[in-house]
Amino acid sequence: MVKKRPVQLKPYTKTRYAYEKLRVCKNCHQYTILWEDTCASCGKHSLVPIMDYAQARTRRSMLNVKLISLLMTLIAILLSPTVMQMIISLVVGIVLTGLLWKVQQKMLPSETFRKLNQLMNSTAQNIRAGIELNRGTASAALKEDEKLTYEILREMATVVHNDRIRLQQVVLLQTFVLRKDMDLELEPLLLKDFDQELAAYIGEIAKIKRDMIKTKTIQYVLNYESHILMMPQGKQILASVVGACVRLKKYVDTYPDFIHRYAILLPKDRFLRLYQLVRRNPSSNWNGLRDEVSSIYHEKYRWDPDFQNWD
Ligand SMILES: [Zn+2]
Repeated sequence: MVKKRPVQLKPYTKTRYAYEKLRVCKNCHQYTILWEDTCASCGKHSLVPIMDYAQARTRRSMLNVKLISLLMTLIAILLSPTVMQMIISLVVGIVLTGLLWKVQQKMLPSETFRKLNQLMNSTAQNIRAGIELNRGTASAALKEDEKLTYEILREMATVVHNDRIRLQQVVLLQTFVLRKDMDLELEPLLLKDFDQELAAYIGEIAKIKRDMIKTKTIQYVLNYESHILMMPQGKQILASVVGACVRLKKYVDTYPDFIHRYAILLPKDRFLRLYQLVRRNPSSNWNGLRDEVSSIYHEKYRWDPDFQNWD
């Protein structure tokens, strides 16, 4: 087994949309999802968030329209036969350009999004190439720093969604000593197929960050329960997940049979939690789970003071 290393992970900034993480080089139009200062392709300090880039492009095309409007005003003035007409052309031109300016100000956000869409579509090839370059950076980093590689992959995973990148993250996470205060994720890492590293990772999360065990993860564990049981610590993993399930009644309502199968393996604090739930809901039988809990209680905790004074 690989020896786990303690690490301090960079905090992960979540963005509302995946594209907000993308930056583009103003010089060579290379894209990146990482946080480097200089462009990996041309080496210049010219990386800007794609949203800023789209806005700058929109502003520039709006400016062009305003310049055309002013130019037409100028032509109208030059072609005016009388001074009166010159003045009228000037006033009309200024008013129209002013109006145009106001309309453009109003339309800037929607136009920026339109431009962004256009950019994303027309430069999809460049974006893919940029991410390929990021992937290269990740494998180069792996030789010396697993933590950095994980951080790079985590950023890339916001725009690249496939099991390969998920599995690479899980494998790296399994080389770290995981702590409660770490910025960890679980559901985005769930794979389509069974994987031992992922199962082991779920088992650890179930112990250190119970709140992260939700329906999707429980469903994954249930789908591959027989595979997990074949692992050396398989039963422990399943018991930890059950230990996390019993924190909420809704999971006991939905998965009573699963909880039944591993209730006997629960550590005292998690069994106490289940016992309390069962006691508080005298009308629910949960497909025999109530009887199982009662028999475990009689067998192991009957004389335990923690079980007498909980309410
Ligand atoms: Zn560049």
